[in-house]
Amino acid sequence: MATVNTCVHDVRLVGGRLCLDFVNTVDSHLKSVPKEYLKCYSDLVVWSVRLYALNQERGDYLIQVAAQRPVEANAIIEHAKSLRSALYRIFSALIHRHKPLDNDLDIVNGALVAAPYRSRILASANGFVWGYADESQALDQPLWQVLWSAVDLLTSAECQLVCQCAGEGCSWLFLDTSRTHSRRWCSMADCGNRFKAQRHYARHYKKL
Ligand SMILES: [Zn+2]
Repeated sequence: MATVNTCVHDVRLVGGRLCLDFVNTVDSHLKSVPKEYLKCYSDLVVWSVRLYALNQERGDYLIQVAAQRPVEANAIIEHAKSLRSALYRIFSALIHRHKPLDNDLDIVNGALVAAPYRSRILASANGFVWGYADESQALDQPLWQVLWSAVDLLTSAECQLVCQCAGEGCSWLFLDTSRTHSRRWCSMADCGNRFKAQRHYARHYKKL
């Protein structure tokens, strides 16, 4: 699929949960030519470090391991995109009160089986993250925190607060923790302002 050039350092973080920001690493799921932020394995690691899902030392190590196992690293990126699409469809089904597809649940459950047990918590720069017992060389490590974040959210009361941006062509998801639960946009500075500008011009030209 053709994609628009992007840099993972630039992707906006508006989801409010790791798994939702992971779903938002493509802009968007609704476009035929999306902006793809996860173009290679190191993008996934850089994104994970940026969101404190991996520490810098671990991220650097995984990039070194991936350089020695490039075929596997590419397969992890394809797996990450498959998981991302499945999570997007599951959360979309939740938002629209539809039954999720069995195939999408199978993708998430299959990834969970492949992930290790959550055997401890670790202090991170942003609080705590789930830890695991060994110093694994598994290249799918960046996806484990995403998976656990998704499962924790989907099985919590907070899952009712997951919303999708109302911006035209924007698929981004976020947790609406506003007091009135009336947040409509992934970002007021982006989709919100675009909507206001379109409404302004529509009103202006109607008068002409
Ligand atoms: Zn948006």
